[in-house]
Amino acid sequence: MSTSMYPDTLLLIDNEWCAAASGKTLDVLNPASGLPIGKVAHAGTADLDRALAAAQRGFEAWRKVPANERAAIMRRAAALVRERATEIARLMTLEQGKPFKEACMEVVFSADIIEWFADEGRRVYGRLVPPRIPAAQQLVVKEPVGPVAAFTPWNFPVNQVVRKLAAALACGCSFLVKAPEETPASPAGLLKAFVDAGVPPGTVGLVFGDPAEISSYLIAHPVIRKVTFTGSTPVGKQLAALAGTHMKRATMELGGHAPVIIAEDADLGVALRSAGGAKFMNAGQVCISPTRFLVHNSLREAFTAALVKHAESLQVGDGLAEGTTLGPLANARRLSAMASMIDNARAAGARVATGGERVGREGNFFAPTVLADVPIHADVFNAEPFGPIAAIRGFDTLEEAIAEANRLPYGLAGYAFTQSIRNVRMLTQQLEVGMLWVNQPSTPWPELPFGGVKDSGYGSEGGPEALESYLATKTVSVMAA
Ligand code: NAD
Repeated sequence: MSTSMYPDTLLLIDNEWCAAASGKTLDVLNPASGLPIGKVAHAGTADLDRALAAAQRGFEAWRKVPANERAAIMRRAAALVRERATEIARLMTLEQGKPFKEACMEVVFSADIIEWFADEGRRVYGRLVPPRIPAAQQLVVKEPVGPVAAFTPWNFPVNQVVRKLAAALACGCSFLVKAPEETPASPAGLLKAFVDAGVPPGTVGLVFGDPAEISSYLIAHPVIRKVTFTGSTPVGKQLAALAGTHMKRATMELGGHAPVIIAEDADLGVALRSAGGAKFMNAGQVCISPTRFLVHNSLREAFTAALVKHAESLQVGDGLAEGTTLGPLANARRLSAMASMIDNARAAGARVATGGERVGREGNFFAPTVLADVPIHADVFNAEPFGPIAAIRGFDTLEEAIAEANRLPYGLAGYAFTQSIRNVRMLTQQLEVGMLWVNQPSTPWPELPFGGVKDSGYGSEGGPEALESYLATKTVSVMAA
């Protein structure tokens, strides 16, 4: 797999790829080497004004395209994404670090997401409401909310964009995204597929630059009618406050700290393959990554040993190298975050069962790490690790495990392993999460709602609920004249 040929990424405005008016760029680094591989255009206010004007025109054009034609264009875009998947995935691995196989899965799955939303957009119905006055006809009409401003992170450079993009376009909204400066080329590949599939100019737009400057400018701007963000809880709270100040609709998909409850009657093999396997995907930089392993004390030692064995079987390396199963962290700041979390856990009394340190001196490689007997006051049990660290502690009763799971302000994903219907019922009723997976890994299919509760945000990025957040409801009552 070629490691050369990484294109510079431009801004996308009015279906044209262009440099920033100022000519300013940022370097893009390869996390496997720490070295620059290309550049990305850095938008200023003049570029944003052009992108906003284009988004307004794009909205006027796209909303008039009948839903079945919108679906056809979206399906064409999905086909182009599939056709170009290998190349988009190669760019993703170069800029983000994840193993090429994972990058391929992400890109191909994004085509699946586009197709699902394309079809669902054809089923955006209003309704007729029986009138109290017989001469009246009462309609409830669903309309696209307007141009959308989206802000997406670097951990799933394509997936985080496509969930928002496909739902917005399916509803007839135009879509302007500030994608991650660290991983710009793969999301640009996604948007190019929509341009090539024939969306009218301005329907989709792509900018990069200073995240805080761009978000404060776009969210406040009267053209933008809806805001959607994926990223950390502190930034999400700032953007939600800004959206509130300007009375903009908002969807917030924020951080998580997923509990994994392994009950006394769990099948350990299933728990290991599901949660253990998922733990190190994308080097743990996943909002729904299993992070707090709560294991019944009768199984704790056996599970810890099995997870250590699995962690030690992973092959750490450049994501483009044959056989790599764990790539580097996406950016250098995550290395120091991992090191300080592990130092803190050690000082709090946890045992480093495997890993715990950086691998090599070039690139952002960090060993898959298992921490055992972690006290609940350790940082790793409170702040989102967002890295290849599994933290384990024991419990005696399910009530105790549920209380620990609910202790944090996060409420995104949860996992449980048990064979008892009574336990499943209790977990379903009591766990404060937006998504619960029992005896299986996560399945974030587009047809299922995806989102959190509490500090993990609000709104959904899957299922019919995802479309609802891009629609405005209009009530029309017509009296026969
Ligand atoms: P960060 O909080 O600085 O940034 C997170 C994301 O938000 C980045 O993509 C960044 O470009 C963007 N961002 C930051 N400030 C912004 C602003 N004012 N306006 C618009 N966008 C803004 O953190 P980071 O160092 O990039 O990542 C570390 C933490 O972020 C992780 O620990 C994790 O909690 C969280 N994160 C979550 C997700 C997710 O999928 N929910 C994805 C990436 C990062």
